[in-house]
Amino acid sequence: MKKMKMYIDGQWVESGNHEYLSSVNPFNREVWATVPQASQQDANDAIEAARRSFHTNWKHSSGLKRATLLFKLADLLDENAEHLAQIESKDNGKIIRETTKQMHFAARMYRFYAGYADKLYGESIPLDNTNLLDYTMREPIGVAVLITAWNSPIQLLANKLAPALAAGNCVVIKPSEQASVSTLEFTKLIEAAGFPQGVVNIVTGDGRVGDYLTRSDKVNKISFTGGVHTARLIGNNASKNFVPLTLELGGKSPNIIYSDADLERAVPGAMAGIFASSGQTCIAGSRLLVQRSIYDEVATKIAKRVQTIKLGDPLDPLTEMGPVANEGQYHRILKTIEKVESEGAKVLVGGEIHDPELSTGYYISPTVLINVSNAMEVAREEVFGPVLCMIPFEDEEESIQIANDSGYGLASGIWTNNLSRAHRIAKELEAGTVWVNTYRTSAAQAPFGGVKQSGYGRERGFHALQEYTRTKNVMVDL
Ligand code: NAD
Repeated sequence: MKKMKMYIDGQWVESGNHEYLSSVNPFNREVWATVPQASQQDANDAIEAARRSFHTNWKHSSGLKRATLLFKLADLLDENAEHLAQIESKDNGKIIRETTKQMHFAARMYRFYAGYADKLYGESIPLDNTNLLDYTMREPIGVAVLITAWNSPIQLLANKLAPALAAGNCVVIKPSEQASVSTLEFTKLIEAAGFPQGVVNIVTGDGRVGDYLTRSDKVNKISFTGGVHTARLIGNNASKNFVPLTLELGGKSPNIIYSDADLERAVPGAMAGIFASSGQTCIAGSRLLVQRSIYDEVATKIAKRVQTIKLGDPLDPLTEMGPVANEGQYHRILKTIEKVESEGAKVLVGGEIHDPELSTGYYISPTVLINVSNAMEVAREEVFGPVLCMIPFEDEEESIQIANDSGYGLASGIWTNNLSRAHRIAKELEAGTVWVNTYRTSAAQAPFGGVKQSGYGRERGFHALQEYTRTKNVMVDL
């Protein structure tokens, strides 16, 4: 069994209160690692280390130095991708193909921001009084607390850590208690890359640790990925010290298929949109809006294909869908499926699994619900599991109305061969991302984030650097 340690001020340490949490492999329900449950003192030590390092070292570092270290980290991540992917698949049950891809995507993120580290220019501003020289500087904010969810630990962290470090901030990372091991292993690469002591610190444990960190008045920035309820608690803490937040929260994303769509692309696109990672992605296209004239045809095609999805060991490269991540998820998702029929929806295919070969893990088969109305709970609340709600609509107007009738606004998809319609609808959708004739495609350069209860602030792209820098104005009387 792996016994993990935390990384504070350049040292690998145990928790001050000697408490540990178990990491359970959702494939076989075995405890395979333990991680420390940090104490309040550990959290404070990590913040202090980050502050010290920021003031004495990192904020004075050259962009070139930060870029060099980030490029080195990206290389190390690529070299260790397989090892880290295996750990992550064990920790959260995601299939190895996906976790491996995510490691390389994360490496791309570090490279992308490495390229920006020495290009964070200010501006020179011409004023009415020409005897005045006015210019701006873009400065790091200070100590950033980065809190992540369990579904894609290394990739979610890269969205935050890469721009934070490139801009010259020091950080304290708090991964999810459900899947911390890959982040702790990744921290070894940070050490190996040669980042100075205290620039990156990591403390582990449950929500209490996140609470200690976000209550601190010594923190200058909080970036959080997780659920809406937790975001509210963090928002309350942060408001006391006016700490700026980036919030990447949940979704109930509409994926809309119009009657003129190419179904050879739309059907697999809709399925990948929901069933990848066993539906446990914030951007899951969980509401499939289908024009009524093709609704039955699409439902039949999806039902047929769903039955060919290969469930199995996440570490087997041939597996197409793994278990859900933990026992809590498993029971919650099954309960949701059980009660949909009482609301008037119908389970077309899916639900609980009775295959004895999969009985050791938290498996739920890909589930398709038809006759779903957008008013039903299953269409309004995030299920965070492999459950697709198929909702019919008549025309463009109704598709927009249903799509936007949600508390969330993270992502959305449009499937059509009509170019004007694609742009018309993209303009109307209340979502941070609109995909046209694709879904779940991501790029380091493209900004990502939500509206409404999906959060605010942007990750990736140049936009993320604005979350980790602030502007100082300097005015000189010549
Ligand atoms: P969660 O909110 O339960 O936990 C997220 C993190 O917050 C964990 O590290 C947890 O320990 C910490 N936390 C818990 N209580 C806290 C508190 N009081 N103060 C500070 N931190 C606290 O979410 P989860 O179950 O880990 O993740 C699932 C959610 O994350 C879903 O809603 C999903 O949509 C969302 N998510 C969003 C994105 C995105 O980019 N928008 C990506 C992945 C997941």
